Amino acid sequence: MYLVKTSLRVKCSKCERDAVIRVPYAKLNLCKEHYVEYFEKRVLKTIERYKVFRDAKKVLIALSGGKDSLTILHVLTKYRDLLRVQLAGVHLDLGIGVYSDESRKIVLNACRDSGVECYIISLKDLLNYTLPELVEKTKRPPCSLCGLLKRYIFNTAALEWGYDVVVTGHHMDDILVFRLKEILIGREEGEVLKLLPYTESVKGLYAARARPLYETYEWEIRAYSELLGIKHIEVSCPFKYRDVISTNIAEMLEKIEKEVPGFEITLARRFARKTPRESSEVVISCKHCGMPSSSGICALCKLTMKTHGSPMGPSIRDALRNKRILLA
Ligand code: SF4
Ligand code: ZN
Ligand code: ZN
Repeated sequence: MYLVKTSLRVKCSKCERDAVIRVPYAKLNLCKEHYVEYFEKRVLKTIERYKVFRDAKKVLIALSGGKDSLTILHVLTKYRDLLRVQLAGVHLDLGIGVYSDESRKIVLNACRDSGVECYIISLKDLLNYTLPELVEKTKRPPCSLCGLLKRYIFNTAALEWGYDVVVTGHHMDDILVFRLKEILIGREEGEVLKLLPYTESVKGLYAARARPLYETYEWEIRAYSELLGIKHIEVSCPFKYRDVISTNIAEMLEKIEKEVPGFEITLARRFARKTPRESSEVVISCKHCGMPSSSGICALCKLTMKTHGSPMGPSIRDALRNKRILLA
C-alpha cells in the first residue's frame, strides 16, 4: 500500500492537512478525508462510464464477507439516493467452518448497519452438502466448484426475486490476472470474457452483472476499508490458492505498475473496449431447470446428477423462489 510515512509530514495535495496516502498514478498525496472522497468519486465514475446501473432499479450485492464486497456495499449505500437504486445483499454460507461462520456474521452486521435487506443462503440446506463435503465427493478444485455454485445461485436468486443486476466486488488486479492468464494459455473464451464492468442481462436466463470496482486497485480498496474501519473477515478461506501462472502474472503487473503508474487502468479500459459485447457462446436454457447452459444441461444440473443422482436445478430454483432456505 502507498501509505505516506507520517514522519515525512507530506501535505495533502488538496488541503493543509498531513497526507496519509500517496496515489502514484494520479500524482497525489491525500489526507484521509480527501482520499475517501477521491476513492468514492472514482467508483462513481466507473459506474457512470460503463453505465452499470442502466435501467436498474433493484440491485443485489453478492457479499462474501471480504473487504472488496463490503467496500462496495459501503459506497453504494452512501450513494443509493444519487444512483436511484434499491439495494439488497446476498450471501452464500458455504459451510467452511469458522471462516463461513465469521463471514456470515460480518455480512449480517454490515447489512443491518447499512439498513440494507440481507439474504443468507445456506448451501447445506440447499444441496445437503457443504462446500468441503462437495469437494471431497467430486474431487474438483474447490474454487471452481465454489464459482459454479455462486454463479448459479446468485443469478437464479436475482431472477426469482426480481433484481435487475447482481453486483460483485471483483477488482481490477484480479480481473487483469484472470484475463492475462487466459491469453497466456491460449484459452481466451467463455466466462473470462464476461469479466467486464458490465454484462448485459439475457431475458429469463441471466440477470445483468456489474463490477463497479473494475478500475480500482486492490491496494486502494484496502486503504479505503482500513481508513474507514469497514469490518471484514480477517481469516482467509482455507481453500484459497493461487496457481503459479497467476502468481507470476500478478508479480509482473505489480512491477510494471511501479515503473509505469496507471498501466493497469489503461489495460483494463482497453480490455473493456475490445471485448465483444455479444458473446460467441450459444446460450440455451437447461432442459431440467431452465437456467443458462451451452449444451442443454447447465453446469449445476450436470454436477448434481453426479453427486445426487438427479439434477438439482429445479429444486434449487423452487427453494429460492419460495425463499424457503433463507436464514435471515
Ligand atoms: Fe470459494 Fe475459493 Fe474463495 Fe474459498 S477461496 S470462498 S473456495 S472461491
Ligand atoms: Zn486533504
Ligand atoms: Zn439446470
